[in-house]
Amino acid sequence: MTDETYVCPECTSTVERDYNVRYIVRTCDECGHNGRFLNETLTNVVYDVPEEERPDDWADQPLDERFRHALEEGLIDRTDLDV
Ligand SMILES: [Zn+2]
Repeated sequence: MTDETYVCPECTSTVERDYNVRYIVRTCDECGHNGRFLNETLTNVVYDVPEEERPDDWADQPLDERFRHALEEGLIDRTDLDV
């Protein structure tokens, strides 16, 4: 079984777990933020949202909010989400 990488929505530090889910909820060792660590696969999908599709406050939003927004706005192709 391969390890999956999960990314802190605040500081983008990563942790690894031996299971594959969309996100895990934990407190970050680096920045102390408690929240949803996105699966790195999903993080990459968020990074791939084209610039012209991004709302003005995109850069100010934590990763998990960007992901939620992108999903709601249909910016993410659900076929990418094979997690
Ligand atoms: Zn963090």
